[in-house]
Order: sequence, then structure tokens, then C-alpha cells
Amino acid sequence: MKLRKFFACAIFAFFSLGGIFAEETSKAETKITEQSEIDTGIQELFVDKGSFGFTVTYKKSNVPGEVFFLRMLVESKKQGKKIDINAKAELFNRPTETVKETESESDESEKSKEIKPVCKSDFYYLDPFKKNHKNVAELLTGLPMWTWDKDCSDASIKITYTINGEEENYFEIPVVIEPKDYPKETIKLNSALSDLISKPDPEKKEQSKQLNEILATIDPKGVYDTKPFIRPMGGKRITSEFGQTRTFVYSNGKKAPSYHCGLDFGIPEGTQVVACAGGKVVMARWRIVTGYSVIIEHLPGLYSIYYHLSELKCSEGDIVKQGDLIALSGCTGLSTGPHLHWEIRLNSVCVNPDFFMSNYAFDSISKDSKTRLR
Ligand SMILES: [Zn+2]
Repeated sequence: MKLRKFFACAIFAFFSLGGIFAEETSKAETKITEQSEIDTGIQELFVDKGSFGFTVTYKKSNVPGEVFFLRMLVESKKQGKKIDINAKAELFNRPTETVKETESESDESEKSKEIKPVCKSDFYYLDPFKKNHKNVAELLTGLPMWTWDKDCSDASIKITYTINGEEENYFEIPVVIEPKDYPKETIKLNSALSDLISKPDPEKKEQSKQLNEILATIDPKGVYDTKPFIRPMGGKRITSEFGQTRTFVYSNGKKAPSYHCGLDFGIPEGTQVVACAGGKVVMARWRIVTGYSVIIEHLPGLYSIYYHLSELKCSEGDIVKQGDLIALSGCTGLSTGPHLHWEIRLNSVCVNPDFFMSNYAFDSISKDSKTRLR
């Protein structure tokens, strides 16, 4: 009961504060009826759009290198009416659009100066085979930010959708991109490693093309696991942080800028490496630059990557559970000492692996929000 009171207060507080967007954003029938903080920093927004209701769970602020995940429950007010929805989310470095009286007088040139989104992503069904899908559909998407994306205290997410082939509609959510500084480091390379990086090699080029193709694949049916991740080998020493700006110094003295996409753990060769979450093994093979390498698909466009391994313990096509042994660590490929390089990509963007150790997909907390309309 105490909790209920808290929620009621929170709802009131946020509704009062949220005047800007509560007044309204897009098409006339949008009604934001409730905005509340359901857990630290996690918001739940209920939007009434005529015959459909949307409950969106999301984190109000993230830093570059993290992801705005949106979990969306869509309900039809008509019993037994099936929902077939196509929806996308776009992150903008601008406040939510407010419909002003004076706007109709503004010239067209203003409108043509459309701001490009920082990123965009399609929603996918959490139940991709739509077994439990009557007049409720539950969807998820993530908007990943590069570490060099700009901070913005007045950012917004625009959700655009069509349901059952009806006219496209949208609503917006205000969010904050907090500033974040990433560390810098310089790495000296011996002549063998210098050659490995800088020498043109058609096989290396082909391997890089294959890798990029895998990481750019977004299969809406690839929903395997939404639980928080675990570290692939326990709480070991981190030797290189995520997002470091790197300067490689080659043996001939030349310098090349680079960027550290993952987390490095200094561990002895032969340490067991486990899957950070459940998924499908989409790569388990030798690569020139990264040595023995494993990639696991967890959600549409979401991959975990493991490099410089000494031995593979899984095969391409395997379905693995969180904690399953997938490889032994090593020092293969471009590596200056035994370590595991662990990297997470979403829609090809490198994002901070530690971000996924939290309840990033709002697994347990959004459960209570179901069937709000009935
Ligand atoms: Zn690394």
C-alpha cells in the first residue's frame, strides 16, 4: 500500500513536471495519462492514442556509449482485436516537438531543415512467433550511441508506428544524453604487430567484410535472452577500458589513431570463457587480426564478441545458455599479452559491456504494467 502511495506521488510529480509534453506533441488524439518512476531512473509512460494504448518503459538518461532501450506494451481497446504493429524509434538531439499556435505561420524552409536522428532502430516482438499475441503486443528496441555522440540535456525519442495497416502515427518522449569523457592511451607495437595491422592483405580484408556483415544483421526473430549479462570470466582485472581513444605507435615510429571497442581482461592463457547471455553462436573461427574469435547473437542486432582465444569450445549455429563454456582464453591475433577482449555491438555500434550487466531490457519491472486498459 505504501508503494502505491509512492507511485501516486511520483505520478503526480512527474505529471506536473512533464507539462511540456503532456500539453501535447503530435497528432490531436495523443493523451499522456501517466508518467511515473518505477525504479531508480526508470520511467514508465502510458500514452493513450485513440483505439490503442502504449506503455513504454525506458531509462530517462544515458551517456554516449550506452543505449536507450524502450520496452513497449501495445494494447487494443477492442477485445480480441489482433495487433499487427510496425514501429520504429529515433533519437534526436532536440526537445520534443511542441505544437504551437504560431507554427502554422512559420515558413516552409524551417520545416525542410529536418534534424537527422542520432540513431534509429525498429521495434521487434519479444514473442517473435506471436504465440501469445492477441490484443496485446510486447515490443523492444534499443537506440545505441557511439562514445563520440554529443551529450544533450534536451534530447527526445520519437516513436512512429502503423497498426493493422492504418495511417502512420507517432508520439515523443523527452530524454537526456549525459556527458561522459573516455580515457586515452598510447600502445607501442613491435614490427610483427605493426605489420599485422598496417600491411594490406586481401584475406584480412575479406574477414573484415564478413565480420561487418554479421554485425549489421538485424534478424527480428533472433530473440534469445533479455536477462542482465554476466562477465564472461568472473570479476577479473580489467587491463583496458571500454571507449579508450588509442594511438598505435608502429615500429617505424608512425602513429595511427584507433579506438577500443570492448573491455580487456588480463587473464592467463587457458582460462574458461563463458557466454555472457543466452543466444546463437554466429561465428566461431580463426581470424588474422583477432585470432580465435566467437560471436553470439542475443537479440536482433545485439552481439557479444570474444577475441584472442586459444581454443574454441563451441561451433557456429550452436544455441548457448548464459554461463555455458564457449572457449579458452589466449593471446592469438593482434595481442600484446594474454587477455580476453570482450565487446558488445548493437546495430554495429560499439556499446559499453558493463551497461548490459544491469536490467537493461526491464525484464522483471515491466511485468506489472500489463493489461492496463482492462
Ligand atoms: Zn581489447
